[in-house]
Amino acid sequence: MNRKIKSICHAFVANDIHTYIPDNSQENHFVITSLLCKKCNTLWDTSLVECYFCGDLNHYLYTCTVCGSMYSITRAKVRCECNDKNSKLIKACKNPACPTNTDSELKIVAEKEGGVFDRKSSFKLSLNYCQSCGNPSNFYKTYRVFIYEYDGKNTEDFIKNNSIEEDDLIIYKKKVDDTILYDYLVIKTLEEAKNYRPKFDKSDLKSIIDKIFSQGQ
Ligand SMILES: [Zn+2]
Ligand SMILES: [Zn+2]
Ligand SMILES: [Zn+2]
Repeated sequence: MNRKIKSICHAFVANDIHTYIPDNSQENHFVITSLLCKKCNTLWDTSLVECYFCGDLNHYLYTCTVCGSMYSITRAKVRCECNDKNSKLIKACKNPACPTNTDSELKIVAEKEGGVFDRKSSFKLSLNYCQSCGNPSNFYKTYRVFIYEYDGKNTEDFIKNNSIEEDDLIIYKKKVDDTILYDYLVIKTLEEAKNYRPKFDKSDLKSIIDKIFSQGQ
């Protein structure tokens, strides 16, 4: 795969979009895929987990098992300021009404697991509803991505030369002075796409990625 495609590929990876190069790649495109909400088409955050017992989200905090003080898990020193010899910092569920905090037996088990949100804990679940609209179902949206280093010619030739099909994505790229400008087109019908003229009103790939995966078009 050539370097120009690689750098754009990397922008997708950096934005948590699964990106891969198909087998027998003709070196002119790569494939992106993302999990979206079936109802509102926004990105489904697969990194979020919730407590199995109460549904509370992971707040990335350590809780002291003795005094209940909370600390960010990013802090370097993993010892509570209460200095109690029985103190352990665990990734507990933050909800005071959660059974892992109110039920004495569950509490002991959860503590043994390192807290509900510990990496090894069996008390957490991957998020099973959309963060935007609450809908419980999702789907994978996939695009083949073609990079068009714009030469001012029409889109029709580019489509023909690259065997582009419906549901593919073209990213237009043009260098003006020292800035790279972008535009994109999701091919709905080839007929409509061949007359498209890029406006180059997008200055970064991030805004394109956000648009593609929030409108689900
Ligand atoms: Zn909980
Ligand atoms: Zn403490
Ligand atoms: Zn949704």
